[in-house]
Amino acid sequence: MTSADDTAGVRRVGVMGGTFDPIHHGHLVAAATAAAECALDEVVFVPAGRPWQKAGGGVSPAEDRYVMTVLATAAHPRFTVSRVDIDRPGETYAVDTLRDLRDRYGPETELFFITGADTLANVTTWRAVDEVFAAATFVTVNRPGHSGRDVSLPPHARVEWLEMPAMDISSTDCRQRVASGRPIWFLTPEAVVRYVDSRGLYRTARALQGRYW
Ligand code: ATP
Ligand code: MG
Repeated sequence: MTSADDTAGVRRVGVMGGTFDPIHHGHLVAAATAAAECALDEVVFVPAGRPWQKAGGGVSPAEDRYVMTVLATAAHPRFTVSRVDIDRPGETYAVDTLRDLRDRYGPETELFFITGADTLANVTTWRAVDEVFAAATFVTVNRPGHSGRDVSLPPHARVEWLEMPAMDISSTDCRQRVASGRPIWFLTPEAVVRYVDSRGLYRTARALQGRYW
């Protein structure tokens, strides 16, 4: 498949990194908004292997998070999923993600790192933050409860702010819902709801007595 950007030699690729524990419609609408408004040829979702910010925090197995990401993104013609972070040993850092994707897509590709406002607010604490900003343009979307715009960034940082319909959905809330027997229907795609149930993810004894279904 070719596009106008292919013929021009510059491919525009969005990078949607996350723990995706589980993936939900906030992630998907953020990526779809970026794809449309930044004219991206592809958005590659990159589930973290071992997210350094969540070390020791009891993250679900990487293969479960990978499968949920594939299930949730399969219907969109420009969404793909990469295993680069899952297959790299050690903790996951965005600088390594961007290096690996640069190697894979080549020098002619322009990378756009898609984040919510909460993530941009923390980005100055990331490893090799100067290289991260040099490697990609940040595309940052609004997230309820996070203003984020007053964050101070290195002078060479390129940040485009996009507005998406505010979606007050988080993976933390999805996990807590399942753990306490409340539904996650329509917060995340049906295939993810069914996968979470079939694998027993996030479930506690209390959930078994709940009205999950
Ligand atoms: P957790 O509660 O476990 O931290 P999360 O919902 O924040 O999960 P992450 O996997 O941490 O999801 O986030 C991946 C990326 O998606 C981050 O850049 C985050 O800012 C963005 N994001 C997540 N949820 C939303 C949302 N509802 N609206 C906009 N951006 C979001
Ligand atoms: Mg988060």
